[in-house]
Formats: sequence, structure tokens, C-alpha cells
Amino acid sequence: MIVNQVVAPLDLLVLGSGVAGLSAAVRAAARPDLRVGVLTKAALDQATTRWAQGGVAAVLSTDEDSTDAHLADTLAAGAGLCDVDAVRVMVDEGPARVHELITLGAVFDRDQGGALELAREGGHSWPRVVHAGGRRPASRWSGRWWRRCGPPRPRSWRAGSPSTCS
Ligand SMILES: Cc1cc2nc3c(=O)[nH]c(=O)nc-3n(C[C@H](O)[C@H](O)[C@H](O)COP(=O)(O)OP(=O)(O)OC[C@H]3O[C@@H](n4cnc5c(N)ncnc54)[C@H](O)[C@@H]3O)c2cc1C
Repeated sequence: MIVNQVVAPLDLLVLGSGVAGLSAAVRAAARPDLRVGVLTKAALDQATTRWAQGGVAAVLSTDEDSTDAHLADTLAAGAGLCDVDAVRVMVDEGPARVHELITLGAVFDRDQGGALELAREGGHSWPRVVHAGGRRPASRWSGRWWRRCGPPRPRSWRAGSPSTCS
């Protein structure tokens, strides 16, 4: 990967502009003492994240659901291919990460009482999937992050275009 031109020194360079990279960049950019950059291999909004349907599974209702049940469902759906330790981290940290996404600007569907709407989808034994705008792509909310990644912070540079700040 060639960075054509970096116009300012950075304290932190985040690689990738999907939900993983941008959530890290937006969080870091909240610190006024950090100059944060995002390096991506294409346009800022060209990431798998753009095409995600916005459904995120996490144990957000403790009525009958549990992280152990989420773990078991995921391992069953993974048909022996899952890294059990990684899945354990995902199910344990999932609820907090969903709330963190909301804090960062993600808008998930809610019922009339204001509670997150939980859908039951394939492979899940309990309703635990939140959506943004029904089945609309996650770009509904990740687009806000992409727009936030223009100057002044974090700045983004991509290969093939000198010091592009999207
Ligand atoms: C059609 C579709 C529907 C989906 N629906 C859902 C869903 O409903 N729920 C769900 O949880 N998940 C869904 N997913 C999966 C989800 O989109 C991904 O798991 C998630 O977006 C991954 O985010 P990420 O930030 O890790 O990676 P990405 O969004 O893929 O971002 C990777 C970033 O890294 C950059 N990059 C890659 N290589 C380099 C390199 N060599 N140098 C510099 N930069 C590089 C890319 O340009 C990009 O910006 C779906 C995926 C697809 C394709």
C-alpha cells in the first residue's frame, strides 16, 4: 500500500474504513490531543460494512436469553469452524458493543415503548438481532461516520489519490 502524500504528522493511523476501523477512529478522534488518520485501499465508503444489512446479534434481553445460548447457537451454526475463544469474546462483549455503536451514532429500530426491537433469525434460538431501518444496509448509520471522517479529524488518505480527505 502506497500512501501518496501525508499532509500532517499523525499520532494514530487506523487501517481500514469499515465499522471496525471507523469506530476506532471516531472514538480516538474524540481526544483533542490526537491527530487521527484513516488509511484505506479504496474510497472511504467502499467497505463490506456498506453492504451489511444492519442486523447485529447480541444478547440484549436477559429474559430467557443468555450469552451461553448465543455461544451454543454460534458454534452450532459454525459447524466446527469457529474459534471458540473468539466466539466467547464476541457473545460476552456484544451487548456492550451494540450500546457503544448507539453512543457513536448508530440508529437501531425500536418499538413504540422505545426498547430495541429484537428479531429472531436463522440459527438463533432467541430474538437477539437488532436492525437499522428494517433490512436496509448498515450504510444508513455508518454513513454518518464516513461523513465525520472528513477534515479536521480524522483525516483519511487513500492510495491513488494524493492526500485525499473524504
Ligand atoms: C451483503 C452483506 C451483508 C451483510 N450483512 C450483515 C449483517 O446483517 N450483520 C452483520 O453483522 N454482518 C453482516 N455482514 C458482514 C459485515 O458487513 C462485516 O462483518 C463487517 O462489515 C466487517 O467490518 P470490518 O470493519 O471488519 O471490515 P470492512 O467493512 O470490510 O472494512 C475493511 C476495510 O479495510 C480496508 N482494507 C482492506 N485491505 C486493505 C489494505 N491492504 N490496505 C488498506 N486498507 C485495506 C478496506 O478498504 C475497508 O475500508 C454482511 C456482509 C455482506 C457482504
